[in-house]
Amino acid sequence: MKRWLRYWVGRYRLAWKYCPVCNSSPPKMGCWVCEGSYDYGSSPSGLGGPLSAERALLWRTRWDRVMGR
Ligand SMILES: [Zn+2]
Repeated sequence: MKRWLRYWVGRYRLAWKYCPVCNSSPPKMGCWVCEGSYDYGSSPSGLGGPLSAERALLWRTRWDRVMGR
């Protein structure tokens, strides 16, 4: 139950192109989803970004693999 909620909270963060694990602001070095990438969000963040569609899909694939059913 809790895991299910956490999964969807993460999917919501991913929909906004933010990392569901470290929240991307700032990104955590060695994060298993975003790898500390400064590419996040849908507009330039100052240091990087926006997150490309390819990387957004990669993040979502990682999240689904670990947190999904
Ligand atoms: Zn992260």
